[in-house]
Amino acid sequence: MADGGRYLARNWSYGEARLGWATAARSSLWARCACGREAAVDPRPWIAQGLGRQVLHDLETRLRCVCGARRASLEIRGLAEAPGAGAGGIHVFR
Ligand SMILES: [Zn+2]
Repeated sequence: MADGGRYLARNWSYGEARLGWATAARSSLWARCACGREAAVDPRPWIAQGLGRQVLHDLETRLRCVCGARRASLEIRGLAEAPGAGAGGIHVFR
């Protein structure tokens, strides 16, 4: 399937997605901890720090979960995918 290192279909749902993409229309940034908690994260403070071009993977250690975890997975979701009640417990640390 190799074709010189190019991908026919981009697969960027996790580490390669960039923070700035979370500000696209109908998109939102979500954090998910290994304990199962999920929370919406506001990307604007990070973008204000000039981090809009950072890949999400590099920002995961800036999150803290109420379970004590010092990182959480970040992903960009469409608004329709966002869960309603029950989300929360993960906060931006810096
Ligand atoms: Zn947790």
